[in-house]
Amino acid sequence: MSDRHIVYISVGSNLGDRLQNCRQGIIALTRCGGSRILAQSRIYMTEPVDYEDQDWFINMAVKLETTKDPFELLDTIKSVQRAAGRKRDKIRFGPRVLDLDIIFFDDLVLDSDRLVVPHPRMHQRRFVLKPICDIDPTIIHPIFKKDMQSLLDGLGKDEQRVIEYQ
Ligand code: ATP
Ligand code: CA
Ligand code: CA
Repeated sequence: MSDRHIVYISVGSNLGDRLQNCRQGIIALTRCGGSRILAQSRIYMTEPVDYEDQDWFINMAVKLETTKDPFELLDTIKSVQRAAGRKRDKIRFGPRVLDLDIIFFDDLVLDSDRLVVPHPRMHQRRFVLKPICDIDPTIIHPIFKKDMQSLLDGLGKDEQRVIEYQ
């Protein structure tokens, strides 16, 4: 592996000051050193999907360059989430102050206990695909061999509401 990697991270919050939590979370990722932001998506308000009895989320995506390896980056993400005040989740897919998911790490395909890359549910999620398409709709999913725009277009019409945040 080369020592510089291109990573896409999905950022979300639906507790507290959601926008501020996302923005601070992105800045905190780079404060840990070894990473810099190359691009950022627009900001979206998204309807909760897997667990519906909760507030809408703010979601966005960022493209990072990092010298960390995948597991170091996962540790960074977890410490940033903790610092933002995220506690152990009471409900799976329930409310959270900050959620940072590694969507792609170069074109790595990895399936381990702690980390699965590409993120195993990203292709089903409008709230992930829409922001990533802002940054680059031509990224090819290393398993499905489809680009982001095709995956987004492949989602049903009446799926999750995703509205640009003004
Ligand atoms: P989902 O993964 O469906 O979006 P979630 O974000 O609510 O659900 P979390 O509770 O934040 O899930 O994370 C559970 C565990 O998932 C983490 O402790 C982490 O070790 C693991 N994990 C596996 N793959 C990834 C990934 N690509 N990005 C972030 N965490 C991951
Ligand atoms: Ca998540
Ligand atoms: Ca997560």
